[in-house]
Amino acid sequence: MLAEQDILDTIENGILIVTADLKVLFWNRWLVTHTGISKEEAADNLLAALFPATGFNILKRKVKIAFKLNSSTFTSSSVEKFIIPIRLQNITKSIFRHMRQDVVITPLANGQASIVIYDTTPLLEAKSTINDQLVAMEKQATTDPLTGCYNRKMFNDLLKSEAKKAERHDKKFSLVILDIDNFKSVNDTYGHLIGDEVLKEITVVAHSAIRQSDIFCRWGGEEFAILLPETDIEGAAILADKIRLNIKAHRFSKAGNLTCSFGVAQFSQGEPRDSLISNADWALYHAKNHGKNQVALFDQGEIRTWHAMANA
Ligand code: GH3
Ligand code: MG
Ligand code: MG
Repeated sequence: MLAEQDILDTIENGILIVTADLKVLFWNRWLVTHTGISKEEAADNLLAALFPATGFNILKRKVKIAFKLNSSTFTSSSVEKFIIPIRLQNITKSIFRHMRQDVVITPLANGQASIVIYDTTPLLEAKSTINDQLVAMEKQATTDPLTGCYNRKMFNDLLKSEAKKAERHDKKFSLVILDIDNFKSVNDTYGHLIGDEVLKEITVVAHSAIRQSDIFCRWGGEEFAILLPETDIEGAAILADKIRLNIKAHRFSKAGNLTCSFGVAQFSQGEPRDSLISNADWALYHAKNHGKNQVALFDQGEIRTWHAMANA
């Protein structure tokens, strides 16, 4: 027996032998090292007395089940918070305060059971790191690094799914393309970095005018696109004009006052998605050629400038 216990002391897992009410009969060296509770302190004591702040109801229930089934049972602290509370040292810089554990309970003779504890903290930490990296990679793949809004690829995916929804459920949606007026001269006058700041500020100003369900993206360069679900061309023009006025009224921190031009188009059933984009683009071209700082619509095959007052 002595030799067997010596062997249990050399194993790099926690091993304890308990009675059905969790009185400790054996406590291996791993447990001494990790809990700071000596073999003498542990012997003949209830786990609940050794760890007064911990309820051992789950462990007790699992031990009972092991006896009842007369076979090993398993429990894991990825489900429960922890089985035997072992505080991790701060120096390990773990994301967990307590060691995560897998525990195997095996019924022995004389109403005793062995509990073997495996430290799963490193595994769960690695999983969590991979998960964080995946989230970061996904964010990187879908957002524009400068402004933090959706990138064009993500926008195209969302546009595709919005078009499918519109076809299937006979719903409408519209597209707005926004282009900063004379942006080249902002770069030429103040430099590229200030130009970048303007792009970030435009994003904030435009975002504050749109609904949660609207999709805002950096289309490329100094152009942005807004997808407006359940919105017809008039609703889209009203929103575009609101953004136009907000931007016109905004004083950019370094570049002063600026304006933007807008092209608006509504999705038509049966029409290819690309024509929604080219229709909005044509409207934008019209707005640029008719004095900028305005909203133009591609409306039933014709392009016209939106005059908010006339349409009010
Ligand atoms: P218009 O009113 O006709 O739109 O004139 P514009 O000067 O805004 O348009 P143009 O297409 O001539 O110039 C766009 C400029 O946008 C040129 C390019 O250097 C600048 N630009 C594109 N992407 C970025 C960017 O990420 N940062 C900065 N700072 N400038 C950019
Ligand atoms: Mg442009
Ligand atoms: Mg421009």
